[in-house]
Amino acid sequence: MPAPPLPPSGRRKRAWFPNKMRRRIFLGASLSLAASRVFADDKPVRFSVTGALTQGSLAMGSAPPGSVVALDGRPLRVTADGRFVFGFGPDQTKASLVTVRYPDGGGDSKSFTPTLRHYEVQRINGLPQKTVTPPPEVEARIAHEAETIYLARLTDSAGSDFLSGFDWPAPGIESGVFGSQRIDNGTPMAAHYGVDMAAPTGTPIHAPADGVVSISDDYYLDGGFTMIDHGQGVFTLYLHQSKRLVRAGEAVKRGQRIGLIGATGRATGPHLHWAMNWFEMRLDPSLSTKKPKPDPL
Ligand SMILES: [Zn+2]
Repeated sequence: MPAPPLPPSGRRKRAWFPNKMRRRIFLGASLSLAASRVFADDKPVRFSVTGALTQGSLAMGSAPPGSVVALDGRPLRVTADGRFVFGFGPDQTKASLVTVRYPDGGGDSKSFTPTLRHYEVQRINGLPQKTVTPPPEVEARIAHEAETIYLARLTDSAGSDFLSGFDWPAPGIESGVFGSQRIDNGTPMAAHYGVDMAAPTGTPIHAPADGVVSISDDYYLDGGFTMIDHGQGVFTLYLHQSKRLVRAGEAVKRGQRIGLIGATGRATGPHLHWAMNWFEMRLDPSLSTKKPKPDPL
């Protein structure tokens, strides 16, 4: 049994700022709390952050090449041309503080507060009861599968495939939305962190961007499961597939067939559960798509 994994924030507590810089970060954080949001948001800085800037969204940053970037004091990987990425938690209400030390020695801090979303309650009936209240003999299997996914999500790879944005991976009627509170067969469950797209079994699923497959396996609750690493902690996940067409370690290209829609695992009917993560944080992939959703079949 491996030692319990530390979350990324825990394993990166190493202080890397000089004292003067640390004081500036602290000052920046205090100012953003004390002063109005407009002051913090309008502060001119030499870096930018773009995206939906709402709860559960991926944010992309750009700074002068050679900059060092931290999010709430946690160092972020930065590409050679100064690009970085982070997420806003699905229930996050406080500001995220981005601090950049420029190659010329100067620096800036700026806080970003995500806009709030309203999440619905969704009742799902007709699920196989063994997937809502799994029998004791599969508990160890479910725990092992959850740990495998958790550990894979901690990978901070140098790829930057996330930079070119994401396509919808399949056509389908949106039968489940991100963040809804789920009541499955009458039992309250964890919030639904993904987008459900209902389409017939066998409908192809395409990679929404370039990446490297980190997991491809058959899981008890998730069914035919694939996870793709798009670099810097950005992952997309595909659940309930009837068939998986890629293997762990394989590089995939945008548009490549990676699997077929199915109803395996905890599902009432054929659909793709499409999810996105930034490390341990659950994100809404539909907020990172660059084109309109394809029409249902
Ligand atoms: Zn789902």
